[in-house]
Amino acid sequence: MKVYKFGGASVKDANSVKNMAAIVQACNQPLVVVVSAMGKTTNAMEKLVTAYFDRKELVKSEAFHEIKNYHQTIVEELFEENGYYKHVLEKWFDKLWNRLEQAPSLNFDFEYDQIVPYGELISTSIISAYLDYKGMQNKWTDIRQFLLTNDVYRDAGVEWELTTSFMKKFFSFTDTNLYITQGFIGGTVNNISTTLGREGSDYTAAIIGHVMEAENVAIWKDVPGVLNADPRWYHKTKKIDELSYWEAIELAFYGAQVIHPKTLKPLQNKQIPLLVKSFVDPASSGTCIREIDGKLKLPPVYILKEEQLFITVSPRDFSFIMEESLSEIFSLFSHFRVKINLMQSSALNFSVCVNHHRNLQNIINELSEKYVVRYNDDVELLTIRHYNDAAIEEMTNEKEIIDSQISRKTARFVVRKSEWVFQN
Ligand code: ADP
Ligand code: ASP
Ligand code: MG
Repeated sequence: MKVYKFGGASVKDANSVKNMAAIVQACNQPLVVVVSAMGKTTNAMEKLVTAYFDRKELVKSEAFHEIKNYHQTIVEELFEENGYYKHVLEKWFDKLWNRLEQAPSLNFDFEYDQIVPYGELISTSIISAYLDYKGMQNKWTDIRQFLLTNDVYRDAGVEWELTTSFMKKFFSFTDTNLYITQGFIGGTVNNISTTLGREGSDYTAAIIGHVMEAENVAIWKDVPGVLNADPRWYHKTKKIDELSYWEAIELAFYGAQVIHPKTLKPLQNKQIPLLVKSFVDPASSGTCIREIDGKLKLPPVYILKEEQLFITVSPRDFSFIMEESLSEIFSLFSHFRVKINLMQSSALNFSVCVNHHRNLQNIINELSEKYVVRYNDDVELLTIRHYNDAAIEEMTNEKEIIDSQISRKTARFVVRKSEWVFQN
């Protein structure tokens, strides 16, 4: 069997859904299709849950209707026979609205996981019905029943043993050759919805690939494959045809957004290839990520993380930054779940580059009790993997460099935010 994953961009409107259906139809093998919420629905759901949690009734109602209208438009365009699908859409939106009419608990992350999954539940229901409508027999499955997780809301961890035994029963391929299911969401043994973290649908596809020992997993994107930079930022990109798991994990770790960082491990562990394919040009080769012995010749790969904060702490009493202080500082970041993207230490300074996060002020407050804390909040983190002199020159030319770190294969620069201009 194979696993296909379609992200928000690949199902953002009726034409995209039709295109996606054609890709699915061309696969003549047992297939599990993992789908995200349509377009930017997860962002809209986040607005909705925030309004609900903050009890802002008007904003809540507007956000709800915006989401409903968006899906209704897609459905109207997909199904020529009026009303064919109306009842299914109504069922989900009624359920969602009922939930929104109950008083929220005090736990935002819990509420988030009860509401945001509707994006995926609705998109997969529409797609499953559309495939049916076009004569492609398929089975819609609610992944929350068998992708079982702990209850760390918004960042749930997979319960692998339970998931393995339940998932194999659900995807038995005895009643159909085509399953449609949701990315990004899971459920606890107590039947409570959870989510795996933003952009987590790639990870869902990898979990299914791992458990079902798929022949391969293909993630269908709006780019020709893995490129040597994000084309939204750098216009001279080159496609990379092949990558080893190792290299792909490094790129995802440094922030190449094309693959969710958790995706590679479950596939590498069972040596299942990951294909990054273009839904715009499905016949093109894309990028294949697999076990590769020996060296691959790769061009410099550029990864930019925007909206970073660069924090430097120094002990007030001139004591060295040593193991104890480091362990204290790390546990603060870990406690507040703030990911460190780069760190640097000297005798009297310890610096980190982190994403902006709502808990950062808490961390800064706690650190300030013992340390002098300084920070820059308008910086970006640039990573150049497989760098050479020309690549460093092109990227850092005219940039104010706040910190840098150069190792054998990777050069990293914390730079002050300013416009990126590249020559042709
Ligand atoms: P999905 O629709 O599956 O969620 P994403 O938006 O998460 O897809 O990933 C695709 C996007 O990743 C592309 O549109 C591109 O702008 C961005 N991207 C960032 N870095 C790279 C890279 N190195 N190669 C290709 N795309 C990249
Ligand atoms: N819909 C979710 C998000 O936008 C998951 C995903 O698309 O991967 O984060
Ligand atoms: Mg995504």
